[in-house]
Formats: sequence, C-alpha cells, structure tokens
Amino acid sequence: MCYKHQFYGIDSHRCVQMTPTLRCNQRCRFCWRSFEHEPGEEEECAPGTILAGIHKLQKKSLAGYNAVLANTVTEERWQEALEPKHIAISLSGEPTLYHQLPTLIDLFNQDGYTTFLVSNGTNPDMLARCRPYQMYVSLDAPDEETYLSLCRPLENYWGAVLESLSLLTSRRSAVRITLVKGLNDFAPERYAALLQESGAMFVEVKGYMFLGYSRNRLERENMPEHERVRLFAGQIASACDYRIRDENELSRVVCLEREI
Ligand code: SF4
Repeated sequence: MCYKHQFYGIDSHRCVQMTPTLRCNQRCRFCWRSFEHEPGEEEECAPGTILAGIHKLQKKSLAGYNAVLANTVTEERWQEALEPKHIAISLSGEPTLYHQLPTLIDLFNQDGYTTFLVSNGTNPDMLARCRPYQMYVSLDAPDEETYLSLCRPLENYWGAVLESLSLLTSRRSAVRITLVKGLNDFAPERYAALLQESGAMFVEVKGYMFLGYSRNRLERENMPEHERVRLFAGQIASACDYRIRDENELSRVVCLEREI
C-alpha cells in the first residue's frame, strides 16, 4: 500500500496509474520522466478505447506479481488487483492536454471507478470542466520567479496555476507541493498565503525523490530528509488555516488538512 491508502483509504493494489497523454507543457527539473523522448505529435485515443483497455493493460502490468510466481502476494490480493477500483490520472505527462479529458473522467465515474486527477494547473479552463472524485493541483513554488526557474513552463503559466488553485474551494481537492532542497524550500508563509486563497481540502508536502531522468538535472542532496519536510509543512500550517493530519516517513510526505 502506498501513502494514498494511509491518507485517503485508497486500495493501492487496485489503483490503475495511467495517463491519456505523454505530452507536457512544463519541464520541471524534478520530473522523473525524460523530456528528450517526448513525442512531438500524438494521436489521441478515444475515451471509450481507453476505458476498454484499462482492464487488459492493468493485468499486463501486474503480471510479475502473480501469486504463483511471487509468494509474497496472497492469492486474495492478486485476485482483487485484477479488478481495479481506482484510477489515478497522473502517471506521465499533463492530462489536461488531452482534449477529451472531461468525457474520459465521466466514463470512468460511470463505470464505478474512483478517479484522482493530478494536474500541473496550467489549464484551468479544462480543469473547470472535469469532475473527478479528487482533484490535485501542483504548487511547486512560492512565487513566479521560482516557478519559472524550477518548472520551466513553455509559456508563463503562473497566472493560470493561481487560477487553477482558486477552483479547488468547493471540491474534494488537494494541492501537491514537491519540496526540492535548496530550490523551493523557502518562504513557507508565501505558500501558506496561496493555500489559504485556494481553500483546498488537503495539502501534500512531499520531498523530491532522486529518480529517473531528474538525476540528470539535480543532485541527490536536493532530496530533503523527512524531518525537513515535516518542519516545512508545520511552518506552512502555522501560517494558515491548515493543520497536520498525517505523515508517511518512507515517502517523505506530510498531509495537511483544512481546519474550517
Ligand atoms: S508538470 Fe508533471 S509531468 Fe510535466 S514536467 Fe512537471 S512533473 Fe513532469
């Protein structure tokens, strides 16, 4: 189980991580994916085609965990995993660049899946049309200048990110802050002011992990210790109407919850 089980009750082994597009309009230095191999153009699949492929592809991705092959997985859990219940639209790329995202999420919802949509917040008009179970928007900088240097957007989307945050008030929602040591772990009071405005239900302050292609752009030392993540999350909470709700040391993440 991952920390989303601990924080939100999600059955991790029944959660499909997927993306409807591999494209992204940011070049975050902490991103684990490769920008070098991003497809310039992409043919979009129809929402119905994606829905139809979910079961088969999830089974394929789980194949190595078969109880027969790996005796650390119980037969019961293996069988459950073959019947996913949750879909996290977040694997790679920015999902709001997929033009039929609202329809896709509606289809998932109608089919009984719990949907998590994770966005970088650069496309508020698209977010406003989406109805996931829980919406995530990333806030990876306390100010515009840091946003431009750390997230390296193809255009300046800072205003759009702020607009996306303002959409979170009346929904089940979370803001994700990826904390990169030495690059964006300052000015907690400015993060607090932005969060206060957003009205998001939850905030995840998560330490950057030195993984994938981000290792070409950052150093191992950019990973904050859990102690540092907890301290920073506490500083944010003490400057706005959030309190520490939970934490997971292994994933170096602290969950804040809005008090009122
Ligand atoms: S917005 Fe997400 S997918 Fe895009 S570059 Fe940043 S971390 Fe990677």
